[in-house]
Amino acid sequence: MSAIKLEAVEPDTHIPFMDLAALHRPIQGEIEKEISRLVSASSFVLGPLVAQFEDAFAAYCESSYAIGCNSGTSAIHLALCALNIGPGDEVITVSHTFVGTVWGILYCGAKPVFVDIDADTMNIDIAKVEARITSKTKAILPVHLYGQPVDMDPLMDLARKHGLYVIEDAAQAHGARYKGRRVGSLGDIACFSFYPGKNLGAWGEAGAVVTANLRLAERLRQIRDHGQPRRYCHSELGFNYRMDSIQAAVLDVKLRHLDAWNDRRAELSSLYHDRLSGVQGLQLPIYGQDAQSVHHLFVIRHVNRDAIAKRMEEAGVSTGLHYPIPVHRQPAVYGAIDDSHVMKETERVAASCLSLPLHPTLSDSQLDRVSNVLVAAIRAD
Ligand SMILES: *Cc1c(COP(=O)(O)O)cnc(C)c1O
Repeated sequence: MSAIKLEAVEPDTHIPFMDLAALHRPIQGEIEKEISRLVSASSFVLGPLVAQFEDAFAAYCESSYAIGCNSGTSAIHLALCALNIGPGDEVITVSHTFVGTVWGILYCGAKPVFVDIDADTMNIDIAKVEARITSKTKAILPVHLYGQPVDMDPLMDLARKHGLYVIEDAAQAHGARYKGRRVGSLGDIACFSFYPGKNLGAWGEAGAVVTANLRLAERLRQIRDHGQPRRYCHSELGFNYRMDSIQAAVLDVKLRHLDAWNDRRAELSSLYHDRLSGVQGLQLPIYGQDAQSVHHLFVIRHVNRDAIAKRMEEAGVSTGLHYPIPVHRQPAVYGAIDDSHVMKETERVAASCLSLPLHPTLSDSQLDRVSNVLVAAIRAD
């Protein structure tokens, strides 16, 4: 009898938005062995472990060079510095993203110029980019949001036509492919974050810049490490953006599991599509035909988003918002931009987006429960 009772109780356990502890449990021993080796050597910043991870990650991205640094935000700042972007320059990007996409532009004293997103993919609307290019535009910074690669070929054509650099913000898209090619190998420079909750996450803060250009790689390494091409010589303004060896050790182990984790994310994503397609008023994610997403987030849209999220939380299912206030509406940003530019889809998505739990250790039965709770929350109106 008590067994029956337990069964009845079990489905009501809280479903968290993320579960990093469950992800790490099976590989914790392997990582701890690497860390204890590191403590014996007591070399904690850059060094051979960072170099080893950089090589592995560049190869994973099907590119030539990776430069490890201390966050995704630093990675984007480094990329812009290496391209000599500064005051008076404009960088085209999206407002529907994490604010970290935009900080680097402001750190350089340049101006972010926002473009609306595509109503289907929620990525940059490439048809609207050209109208935002001016004589001051230096670069385009597309974001592979939620794990889905941007439609890069037309964007690269446009950039080449106008002599602009392209920097990929791949902070949510480790391993994603566009026309079979890995993100990180598609633009001039790509930036990654290894924040713990990303598809590939460290045990703290970390990031990387990836490029196939040796000259840029050398410049990026120099700026990352106090602007020193060699010890005691500081040839340009630099930063302390170096990667910790301990993060490289963690990432090197976790990189070997990334494809399996991304495969599980894809499986869960297609299960959500099975369970939720045809629900009245619910918009499921839409993917471009050339895009192979790594499903960092599963973002649905519904006009009653706030009420639905509240009911789901009450029913024991946590959700996320990515992102409820567009970057161009943030007080720290709007003073620096042309705020008369209207972005209808950006506003619409900010008001209607809701991220469902999707992580490699989510079980099929947990996904079923999330789906049932969501449908009930929608129908409660
Ligand atoms: C996480 C993230 C960043 C910033 O990375 P941090 O490592 O947190 O500094 C930048 N852009 C996007 C799209 C992100 O998701």
